[in-house]
Amino acid sequence: MLSKLGIFQKVTLFVSVLTGIILAITGYRVMTFQDEALSDLLLRNSKIVARSIGVSSKTFILTNNFVELPNILKLGIEGADTEYAYILDRDGICLSHTNPSKIGTRFSLSKIANWQRDFKSSGSEDKIDSWIVSKAREDIIDVIYPIRIENLKQFYGSVHLGVRKDYIYKSLGNLKTILIKVFLVALVMCFVLGVIIAHQINRSIQNMVGIAKSIENGDYEIKESKNYFREEGELKGSLFAMSNTIENQIVELKKSNQKLDRKVYEQKILMDASLKMNSKCYSNEVLDHILDSCWQGLSASWASLLLADEREKVLVPRLVRGEYCFPQGSVSIGWNEGVAGKVFQDLEPYIAHEGAKDRHFCTIDQPRESSIKSMICVPLIVDGKAIGVINVINKLEGSFTSEDQRLLLGLASLLARSIENMKLYNLAITDGLSGLYIKRYFLDRMNETIVQAKRYNLTFSLIYADIDFFKRVNDTYGHVVGDQVIKNASNILLAEARDNIDFVARIGGEEFAIILPETGKKGAVSLANRIRISAEETLAKQSGISEWPITMSFGVACFNDDATDMDELIQLADKALYVSKESGRNKVSTT
Ligand code: GH3
Ligand code: MG
Ligand code: MG
Repeated sequence: MLSKLGIFQKVTLFVSVLTGIILAITGYRVMTFQDEALSDLLLRNSKIVARSIGVSSKTFILTNNFVELPNILKLGIEGADTEYAYILDRDGICLSHTNPSKIGTRFSLSKIANWQRDFKSSGSEDKIDSWIVSKAREDIIDVIYPIRIENLKQFYGSVHLGVRKDYIYKSLGNLKTILIKVFLVALVMCFVLGVIIAHQINRSIQNMVGIAKSIENGDYEIKESKNYFREEGELKGSLFAMSNTIENQIVELKKSNQKLDRKVYEQKILMDASLKMNSKCYSNEVLDHILDSCWQGLSASWASLLLADEREKVLVPRLVRGEYCFPQGSVSIGWNEGVAGKVFQDLEPYIAHEGAKDRHFCTIDQPRESSIKSMICVPLIVDGKAIGVINVINKLEGSFTSEDQRLLLGLASLLARSIENMKLYNLAITDGLSGLYIKRYFLDRMNETIVQAKRYNLTFSLIYADIDFFKRVNDTYGHVVGDQVIKNASNILLAEARDNIDFVARIGGEEFAIILPETGKKGAVSLANRIRISAEETLAKQSGISEWPITMSFGVACFNDDATDMDELIQLADKALYVSKESGRNKVSTT
């Protein structure tokens, strides 16, 4: 229950209870002391009275003149508050008494006998005190004075006084009343004092609690307030220092947090780009994704990828992502012109904070370029050589920073590596002479196409093509011309096939294959005939042969219609080609 009380209530309670206990003990001690002191005083007076009565009556007792004794007794106790007083002779016979009816009666001598014995053995009057006070009654001091003759050591009788303690009680009663009043007044005063002290302590504690709460709530601007204690000032000083330290640390923490957030942000973008690069390594999707990361990651309007054309010595835009303005015409730029040219030559990034107004900016398409307010350009470097640049245009808020530049350099490095990988990959899957895909890649693609066709229940066609009497070309004009014929035939195939849909491969010396996705037999035969006619009309001429036309033969097979697996389909196309050859060449046959 105490634990529920606040410091204010506790201090007040403590001071009040402590004061109460101190006052109670003091009162008790004063009362006891007063009781003892008054009892002692009363005893002394009683002794004096008893002695004076004893001394006065001694002669009368010795002379057996008892008539005067009542008067002596009466005179002796005058003014004293006695309950009773009497004189006994040595045998215990009452010689005089405040109650006359008791005169002549015999009293017990047990007390006197004791006294007699002690007196005889010690002979000292001091001993008297130890026994002459009777404790028979609480309200009475019973004093006995022995009547004796000093020299003879004789005992002749005794004076008995019963003095009432009323006076003591009355005086103690008065004292008690005074003490209770003092106690109550002091208690009230101490309670008030306790309240004042508690209020003082509580006020400074509340002050501290207020400061601590402001710190807890993140308010480090602690207001100056009055100090009630020296320690309070010291504590406040510590709290001020603490809040300053915390505030500084928070500022530092916020700064490093911002840096960390930025790093995490950059790492995430780079990580995503890397993952994309790994999962779609040979696809244009990677370039799209990385360029998207460039303009989105830098919070800009758009980004473009410019690749170097070694032959023309220009930088050609290959990819643009974001909300950009379309150029009016061709926008390739000399590879030592403008911001892009400078970056390409210097192999160093450049931030043009004024965009098209930058001194390095080279204007090609003025109306469009006037919308360029700021730009950042970084080189794409592979093995220490620039292969192009990335431009990121118009920062949406504020201006491009060194952090933007750092992120863009990271992305540029990934982009350069992706482009290089794609080049290497394309080299690996294409044939050097014709530029068509090689046989191994053709088989892979066949597999993929069949899986897709099976999954989605699609039709596709396969065309096999072969140059007729090619051996004769080689034999007549040599291999160089033969190679040229193969190259020209490949171009005819590519020209007739659909861009980015049909797949054209060189699968042997002068043998070719075309995969036609989602194309039926009719469409395939039609395409094969177009190629056949084009070859017949142009191939010889293009290759510098005028003696006879160079023709091609074709075999067409259709997946789902003719065959349902790869080997079967290839065999059927090959068989159809054989039919064309057998039936006179320059033909298209189907199964
Ligand atoms: P057919 O009408 O039956 O197809 O007769 P063909 O002479 O075209 O067929 P054949 O298979 O007898 O001859 C193909 C020739 O192609 C044999 C080979 O020397 C030649 N050849 C293969 N690869 C190349 C090449 O890369 N360049 C050149 N110039 N000739 C090649
Ligand atoms: Mg041939
Ligand atoms: Mg052949």
